[in-house]
Amino acid sequence: MYDVAIIGAGPAGGSAAIFAAKAGKKTVVLDSNKSVTKRAWMENHYGAPAIAGPDLVETGISQAKKFGAEFVVTTVTAVNKTENGVKIVTENGEYEAKHVILATGMMTDVAEASGLKTKDGTEPRIKTIFDVDAAGKTNVEGVWAAGTCAGVSMHTIITAGDGAKVAINVISELNGERYVDHDVLKA
Ligand SMILES: Cc1cc2nc3c(=O)[nH]c(=O)nc-3n(C[C@H](O)[C@H](O)[C@H](O)COP(=O)(O)OP(=O)(O)OC[C@H]3O[C@@H](n4cnc5c(N)ncnc54)[C@H](O)[C@@H]3O)c2cc1C
Repeated sequence: MYDVAIIGAGPAGGSAAIFAAKAGKKTVVLDSNKSVTKRAWMENHYGAPAIAGPDLVETGISQAKKFGAEFVVTTVTAVNKTENGVKIVTENGEYEAKHVILATGMMTDVAEASGLKTKDGTEPRIKTIFDVDAAGKTNVEGVWAAGTCAGVSMHTIITAGDGAKVAINVISELNGERYVDHDVLKA
């Protein structure tokens, strides 16, 4: 049983994985390797003057792996609540986690098989999003969503930020108190 399973390894999912793994949570990222970010060139990502999408995504994955996050290339077909957590059904087997964070970008096709509420997107070119509350919670207990699929503006600094926000909410729920992850610059 994982503490946190993240569906999607783009900016939102990669960022969530960094926070979850660095907080010592047993974390797995399941990704179908279809991130649209891999076609992007960014000159508006705060702190990174000019960066290619593939480099941003790969850097995020290696940061999360450094803290122990596992990455599996597969496609998730459904997430279903169980007695102890959430079952994740993929094309190559099943996983179980206490919490799931959906970070699936422009894709919400797992919604129907998972009983997840969706609504019309409000951002340009975004047709459908998961219906989440301000914390990132969906209508299924233990299932959260972050990034483009949760309706935020489709920009890497914002989707990565939303991934971090939702991960901190999940970690805080697992810990039973608000979580902060600050490292200090050594003098
Ligand atoms: C051409 C282009 C140019 C852009 N330029 C900029 C720019 O200059 N500046 C900027 O800030 N942003 C730019 N963007 C937007 C930015 O790249 C991202 O789109 C945005 O950050 C989305 O991140 P995300 O993590 O929400 O989604 P994505 O990066 O799309 O990641 C979603 C991931 O979820 C996976 N996934 C989906 N469904 C499943 C499933 N069922 N099972 C397993 N995995 C699944 C996908 O394979 C993908 O890897 C650009 C986008 C494009 C397309």
